[in-house]
Amino acid sequence: MSDCLFCKIIAGDIPSTKVYEDDAIYAFRDINPQAPTHVLVIPKTHIASVNGVCADNSAVIAHIFEVIPTIAKAEGLVSGYRVVSNCGPDAGQTVHHLHFHILGGKELSLDMA
Ligand code: 5GP
Ligand code: ZN
Repeated sequence: MSDCLFCKIIAGDIPSTKVYEDDAIYAFRDINPQAPTHVLVIPKTHIASVNGVCADNSAVIAHIFEVIPTIAKAEGLVSGYRVVSNCGPDAGQTVHHLHFHILGGKELSLDMA
């Protein structure tokens, strides 16, 4: 999608700090980190949110979750990490291209409210 921030990042039109890339997915550092390690993992195909996941595109989601442990290991997140996807306004989703936050590098708060 031409007006999507993360599609522009995938295309290289907006710079980002790459952490991992393959044919189907891209991972990069969040511009406003909420933890010592804050990586975003996105499918290269535009999916707006978790609500856009269906049988036709779910293989890339499985692939993301196959790669997340590799990214976490490379980032040195030996004590654990959190994976979050905000879906819709009540969750505070601000970028409408499906993304998974990987947060770690400190003991994370359990306050999810
Ligand atoms: P959301 O709030 O939609 O779950 O997460 C969007 C995330 O994208 C936020 O954590 C925000 O800091 C990050 N973000 C927004 N714009 C940019 C950008 O231009 N570059 C990078 N690397 N991250 C961004
Ligand atoms: Zn997009």
